[in-house]
Amino acid sequence: MTVADRPSIDKEALRRKYREERDKRLRPDGNDQYLRLTGRFAHYLEDPYTPLTERAPKTDHVTVAFVGGGFAGLVTGARLKEAGVEDVRIIDKAGDFGGTWYWNRYPGAQCDTASFVYMPLLEETGHMPTEKYAHAPEILEHCRRIGKHYGLYDNALFHTEVVALEWLGGRWLIRTSRGDAFTAQFVALGIGPLHVPKLPGIQGIDDFAGHSFHTSRWDYAYTGGDPSGAPMDRLSDKRVAIIGTGATAVQCVPRLAPACAELYVFQRTPSSVDVRDNRPTDPGWFATIATPGWQRRWLENFTANQTGALTDEDLVMDGWTDLARRVRARIMALPPEEFTQPNMLAAFEDSDFEKMEEIRARVDAIVEDRETAQNLKAWYRQLCKRPCFHDEYLQAFNVPGTHLVDTGGQGVDRVTAKGVVAGGREYEVDCVIYASGFEVGTDYTRRANYDLVGRDGVRLSDHWAEGMRTLHGIHVHGFPNAFLVQPTQAANLISNIPHNLTEAGATIAVTVRHALDHGYTEVEATRQAEDDWVELLLSGPGPLLSSPDCTPGYYNNEGRDLGRKGRLNVGHPHGAMAYFAYIDQWRTSSTFEGLEFRKK
Ligand code: NDP
Repeated sequence: MTVADRPSIDKEALRRKYREERDKRLRPDGNDQYLRLTGRFAHYLEDPYTPLTERAPKTDHVTVAFVGGGFAGLVTGARLKEAGVEDVRIIDKAGDFGGTWYWNRYPGAQCDTASFVYMPLLEETGHMPTEKYAHAPEILEHCRRIGKHYGLYDNALFHTEVVALEWLGGRWLIRTSRGDAFTAQFVALGIGPLHVPKLPGIQGIDDFAGHSFHTSRWDYAYTGGDPSGAPMDRLSDKRVAIIGTGATAVQCVPRLAPACAELYVFQRTPSSVDVRDNRPTDPGWFATIATPGWQRRWLENFTANQTGALTDEDLVMDGWTDLARRVRARIMALPPEEFTQPNMLAAFEDSDFEKMEEIRARVDAIVEDRETAQNLKAWYRQLCKRPCFHDEYLQAFNVPGTHLVDTGGQGVDRVTAKGVVAGGREYEVDCVIYASGFEVGTDYTRRANYDLVGRDGVRLSDHWAEGMRTLHGIHVHGFPNAFLVQPTQAANLISNIPHNLTEAGATIAVTVRHALDHGYTEVEATRQAEDDWVELLLSGPGPLLSSPDCTPGYYNNEGRDLGRKGRLNVGHPHGAMAYFAYIDQWRTSSTFEGLEFRKK
């Protein structure tokens, strides 16, 4: 008998508890509760890792300009180079390649999805990840490896922020924060879904007299230690507050706990923290799997398992595929006449109750203090928030000097000159670390910090005023020779973002190659093709991760209905596997259906 089937599980009581916990957290200001890091908060964005080097502004022309030097830019650049497009310029505000892995060097950072599917171009670059879940320095080094392997450093512009993109007919004009004004026949945009850090919108952040920083700009000069795991020896006499308990905090709290004199972890909503089971890669085993085409096989297998497709083999076997495996087993046990949608949804809910009961039981088994254990339990369905996996996070609350400050869903009240106030009590600290996440769900042009001015002077922000509109999540009508590299309106595979990017990169490389080979100066999605794609997207079940029944968070726009805009933040109606199969067929058919190529 499974946990969920046991008579002791009162499903209605659980549903009620989930609703109560959600209702405590709903607030009218939604996303507006957070502070943008502009003006007096801009110092939170400074690059602590690489000194700025002076250079003359660029006024030349390139074939492809790519905005963003993270995985999106790297995989697209790689596919373009493989297709013989040499003249690729990647622009990034960071001091090197890496994107999220450039900025996020907090202690304990590691990938949350198995390295073999998460780290792109492993086969092409010949790298064997050293662990099932590689740590951040190895991933950053892999980004550099891709950059070197494909010669992407030669033309790259770092510490450079694109501020304007304007279509001049046949080419784009790109202006940057460094005074560049160069042109490119094609532009591609891969700014990342989570790249603008945000702070809680509470009073007094400015008044704090101690030290503070955001986790994505970790200040090792203050804490001591380094991203590779050297102990943070400058914290041994420090009282430290960390605000937030999302995926970032789950990874860095275990490193902070033994290092600080006192650590206060301020929690608004607990994360669900399941088993990680990380382990070093056995080179002998790796040699047996790394046969030609291995990474594609692993990617497809992970996506199939994670999205519940019928498949007998689970190569990755981890927490991401576990829930889908359970749901599938329940559905397969149904007699054919009970194969109905309500029964499938019930199978999903039962598996979820079972899983979450196990995760809550794990808290009780690990955390010694009963009140702390109770407060660390997550009361929502597993996919309502980013699921977390860690083998040392819960244990950190047993370390003397580590205190969970649960705010009952209300968040911290304010910051003062001396510390942090929660539940009316002031906690005096020397340092406040904001693990408060990144902007999600705000408009693209706000997060990008530039707007695209396309054909006939139309702005992307106007074209998308009623929500995102694309063909395949890549092309936008009215914006010729511009490509998006991101998951939405495409596969929308949230558990493994790089898989989405690699496919987009391959699609763009084929399209650019075709244009260059035939002397086309322009390529653009037709209005009809874009309309048809949007209609197809709207025919699906809607945003799967944004149920209003969930506790608020960035998965569901902080619990606020986004209306039509929200309904467009979806993937292919038949799921990620269907999109990948479709786009592969679209690429290989060479018919470029939906695109118009022109010579001007
Ligand atoms: P999140 O947005 O997930 O977490 C922010 C945290 O800050 C939440 O716990 C939030 O509480 C809390 N918070 C916000 N305002 C307040 C307040 N006023 N008082 C107290 N707490 C507050 O950010 P993360 O940086 O943790 O993670 C962002 C995403 O980055 C992840 O979801 C994941 O997609 C990605 N990530 C991936 C990793 C990987 O692959 N290895 C590792 C880390 C992150 P509440 O939940 O109530 O809103």
